[in-house]
Amino acid sequence: MLENNTENKFKNFIYEIINEDLKTNKFDGRVHTRFPPEPNGYLHIGHAKSIYLNYGIARDFNGKFNLRFDDTNPEKEEQEYVDSIVEDVKWLGGDFEDRIFFASDYFDKMFEYAVELIKKGKAYVCDLNADEIRMTRGTLTEPGKESPFRSRTIEENLDLFYRMKNGEFSNGSKTLRAKIDMSSPNFNMRDPIMYRIVHEAHHRQGNKWCIYPTYDWAHGLEDSIEGITHSICTLEFENHRPLYDWFLDNLEIYHPQQIEFARLNLSYTVMSKRKLLQLVKENYVDGWDDPRMPTISGYRRRGYTPEAIRNFAEIIGVAKRDALTDISLLEFAIRDNLNKKAQRVMGVLRPLKIILLNYEGLEDLDAINNPEDLTAGSRKVKFTKELYIEKTDFMENPIKGFHRLIPGGEVRLRYAYIIKCEEIVKDENGEIVELRCSYDPETKSGSGTSTKKVKGTIHWVSANYFVDAEVRLYDRLFNVENPGAVENWLETINPDSLQIIRNAKIESILNEARKGDRFQFERNGYFCVDSKFTSDDKLVFNRTVTLKDSWSAKNK
Ligand code: ATP
Ligand code: MG
Repeated sequence: MLENNTENKFKNFIYEIINEDLKTNKFDGRVHTRFPPEPNGYLHIGHAKSIYLNYGIARDFNGKFNLRFDDTNPEKEEQEYVDSIVEDVKWLGGDFEDRIFFASDYFDKMFEYAVELIKKGKAYVCDLNADEIRMTRGTLTEPGKESPFRSRTIEENLDLFYRMKNGEFSNGSKTLRAKIDMSSPNFNMRDPIMYRIVHEAHHRQGNKWCIYPTYDWAHGLEDSIEGITHSICTLEFENHRPLYDWFLDNLEIYHPQQIEFARLNLSYTVMSKRKLLQLVKENYVDGWDDPRMPTISGYRRRGYTPEAIRNFAEIIGVAKRDALTDISLLEFAIRDNLNKKAQRVMGVLRPLKIILLNYEGLEDLDAINNPEDLTAGSRKVKFTKELYIEKTDFMENPIKGFHRLIPGGEVRLRYAYIIKCEEIVKDENGEIVELRCSYDPETKSGSGTSTKKVKGTIHWVSANYFVDAEVRLYDRLFNVENPGAVENWLETINPDSLQIIRNAKIESILNEARKGDRFQFERNGYFCVDSKFTSDDKLVFNRTVTLKDSWSAKNK
């Protein structure tokens, strides 16, 4: 699906590590990566970065890429999330072929491994509760205190561990801990917890288990079982690597290499799943796929393309240090991609009626579908006596530098004629309701019969041939650059992040538009037919992104 990028084999430090491993034949020349989401929320743009990194490596080195659900916590995980994640990874183009795995399918194997560690005298059942474990962990300057249960015999530990599994004990009353080193400078090595008692049904395993493995215990085993070579994760796991290694070394089983990279943080965006869940649950947005969300499903609904998201991931690259990436880089990538593929149409968001006093009849005018891609051809647009133009393209008392329509002034209608404003019609409140204009028949676009020049060109839609649409304009969801860093982050939500326009008038060709179709409304931006609110009798558009360069600026 995505092209092979062999020349990019040196494109980041992870590629260098893999090249080195291939030279030394570390994994018998294999490259096998994975994307291991926990199914406790929808995927976001940070996950996309991880998918493209892991999938891209597998693709570039002729390796394999697994999708694996890290479903070890029964309390927060749901099938809905599993389904959405599969859909999103596929949509992004992360090709896992038939390799979709669930960590919960390895619970039996993990249990056996735990028994093995107990038999080696390297794990013990501890009766301290969560508070007591926390209090005996020590500090940065002081070692932790050894648990009074640390010296239990192997037999006693095995007996208790089986009884934990069999449901004899209550939640939190016992844990299985690795026996490592309570005075290690690395907290993660101070006898970390491997299993907790949680009497809770699992979304795939039902009530089979009441003990569940911790992330640190489970993750390396999952990688090992699947034969992963390079286990790529974000920087916060750097301090967990010694533990990842310790478990695999002490079990003496196949040992992948953990490598850390900096997670993506985007300006004006929150990325924590906990916060995204809160936005959904408390109805700040209309769901995980709200077009203002940084989720893959939100971006899809908004009209972003997988290619644009992948290009963005390429532009920002992979680093070893955390940073805040400017969201305008993402918007640039979207615009750049849509510019090449989106059909142009004319759509008037805030209509103002125009009547051409000296025009009678009906013409089919030629309009170019995409000046960036002439193979896209052209279409016919109906021109009639009554038209709509954008309210903002007329000023009764023009400010300096306003080159569009003014009383007595002239402007070009895109693909059509130059018109002149002869008369303004107002209602009883003084609101402009209509403009009476004349058109110059000598100035038809492309006819070359007139040398008349005007400074402005504006878009329009026939008042007899159009479709009505609802148009949703989006702004950033947050007013501050780094909302995740603000304690009362909900207060930084932008109250104007969604503006709904109910009676936009769009070229009638869009009668045939289907959910998910993308267009450029000339001068107004890129738009996508909304998949949630569009129905048989209602057409709803999301503005994907604004235009930086409108053709009117170029074609003056
Ligand atoms: P949490 O730990 O809060 O549940 P998470 O975002 O870490 O959330 P996971 O499901 O554990 O969620 O993430 C799956 C994979 O995606 C992990 O390998 C993780 O490192 C990677 N990942 C998550 N967030 C980002 C991000 N912002 N940038 C890059 N990679 C990310
Ligand atoms: Mg995580």
